[in-house]
Amino acid sequence: MPIADNLKIIQDRIAAAAVKAGRDPASVRLVAVSKTQSAEAVTGAARAGQLLFGENYVQEFAAKAAEVKEPVEWHFIGSLQSNKVKYLAGLVTLIHSVDRLSLAEEIDRQWRRLGRSCDVLIQVNIAEEATKSGTTSAGLLDLVRSVARLPHLRVRGLMTMPPFFDDPEGARPYFRELRRLAGEITVMGIPGVTMAELSMGMSGDFEAAIAEGATLVRIGTAVFGERQYR
Ligand SMILES: *Cc1c(COP(=O)(O)O)cnc(C)c1O
Repeated sequence: MPIADNLKIIQDRIAAAAVKAGRDPASVRLVAVSKTQSAEAVTGAARAGQLLFGENYVQEFAAKAAEVKEPVEWHFIGSLQSNKVKYLAGLVTLIHSVDRLSLAEEIDRQWRRLGRSCDVLIQVNIAEEATKSGTTSAGLLDLVRSVARLPHLRVRGLMTMPPFFDDPEGARPYFRELRRLAGEITVMGIPGVTMAELSMGMSGDFEAAIAEGATLVRIGTAVFGERQYR
């Protein structure tokens, strides 16, 4: 199916899920996850009106960003090595995957060179799966407090990837827990920290995530079709 049709279907499903949860559909943004997809595919989606994309791999992203001429916005959503942060500086508007202080310090350093601040989310590995990155729930508050002290970084919310379930309802307790953790941080009133964004939900479970308060849903295969490699 053409990307424009997929996008329309997904946007309709996002809006329906929001309305069902008593939320404004405009409070949920679609991050089209374009990892492994070509610059042409991104351009096609942009011409169909989708201007926000999420990428996972630094080199692949940098090459693609140089090719796409449409006025798109990029988020980085993948696990990130500190030595690659310099390739993202100035190109992304939000990093969803900050999971340790050393990474935040390097983001701070690179954005300081630009004379700007970087918006970030803290990734939480709620189920503590060995295969996933993210801070533990127990380590979250300390990490948020430390990151909040960095002058060129703004904490905007939390991100999670729950364990995989065949039934999306299985992921729901993890989405609910992320929202609860965000609420806990909000009441602490840490200077420079807001919990405006909850990045949660992918192709298979985004409706459950929206029911639990997602503001950013990261959707790849349901927009672009199956990935070509990796
Ligand atoms: C690949 C990826 C997605 C999108 O997954 P789909 O199942 O293709 O929608 C979302 N979030 C992260 C962090 C990813 O790596």
